[in-house]
Amino acid sequence: MRFIDLQTQYEHYKEEMDRAIAEVLASCQFINGPQVAKLESTLAHYVGVREAVGFSSGTDSLLAVLMAWSIGPGDEIITSPFTFFSTAEVIALQGAKPVFVDVEDNTLNMDPRQVEAAITPRTRAIMPVSIFGQCANMTALNEIAKKHGLLCLEDGCQSFGGTHHGRRSCGLSDAGATSFFPAKPLGCYGDGGMVFTDDSDLAAHLRSIREHGQKSRYHHLRLGMNGRMDTLQAAVLLTKFAHFEDEVGRRQSVARYYLEHLPAGVRGPVILPENHSVFSQFTIRMVQRDQVQAALQQVGIPTAVHYPIPLHHQPAFTGIIDKNALPVATRAAREVLSLPMHPFLTTRQQDQVLDALAHALAQNPLPE
Ligand SMILES: *Cc1c(COP(=O)(O)O)cnc(C)c1O
Repeated sequence: MRFIDLQTQYEHYKEEMDRAIAEVLASCQFINGPQVAKLESTLAHYVGVREAVGFSSGTDSLLAVLMAWSIGPGDEIITSPFTFFSTAEVIALQGAKPVFVDVEDNTLNMDPRQVEAAITPRTRAIMPVSIFGQCANMTALNEIAKKHGLLCLEDGCQSFGGTHHGRRSCGLSDAGATSFFPAKPLGCYGDGGMVFTDDSDLAAHLRSIREHGQKSRYHHLRLGMNGRMDTLQAAVLLTKFAHFEDEVGRRQSVARYYLEHLPAGVRGPVILPENHSVFSQFTIRMVQRDQVQAALQQVGIPTAVHYPIPLHHQPAFTGIIDKNALPVATRAAREVLSLPMHPFLTTRQQDQVLDALAHALAQNPLPE
């Protein structure tokens, strides 16, 4: 059994995929080929925004937005401690300070009730993360941002395709960024990312930043980066996107089956009624996480921990906030366990996971 089954996915789309890749090889337009612009317009339409700008990764997408907004030393950005490292890494790379606020215990997304108390005169933006495929409470967060004159950037690296009150992730605030890392719900065959926005000036700025701050060839208005998306990756994504809605439906069916059959003693993911999750991960919680993960590994069930260390405990961020702060994120890091999740997981495989999980729990009862 595989945790994420990219091999089966490739076998399903092999003919189309090989053709799409061969077309790029034949054209030799490896940089800025027409597939990049086609992908941008296709995905902008899907997300429901005017502009989409492809990047070399999710991390570069997030970083480029902060560069375009001139986030720098002295600035503070409020973000979540319960996420992949790069969310806060890009803030610190710009010389700004990530200000971590705790997450909600049910969704593990940023808790809007904690945000206002964290705002200072230095705060420039809020950067929520839509974790595990479910949007953060963007309605409440946008309201707070608006009230205090802050920008709002959704880290939608796990939630592309998800919705909040019927509107797509990445199109819910000033800007949203996603990742096409192979393991994400829409993944390419390498690294890739994209920024979505309705702000045409921001989009123009981002297009310049991803090509070394160019205005036109060899005329550099500002500092930028080499942040382009490869033509090959755009071709891969166009091919996979044709099947994306179907795959999201399958992911949701897999999640529903897990949820209906989870053994007692574990907490399943909580999806709020206003959200549709794309289940980039199906993450459960239990106190005996480490023992259960080891027992599952012994019987060949692959699992993963997203994430074992909250960002305020990472050596790279020590000193930003007290280690004992943010108890919800800290506890979640000890309890979370992600089960195999992909569109091609069969009911039989899910039964194997569920049986092994029930068995592992029975072997490792809760301490009194
Ligand atoms: C994957 C991920 C990123 C980084 O994306 P890359 O494409 O790997 O650079 C950032 N934030 C979150 C929440 C992610 O899951």
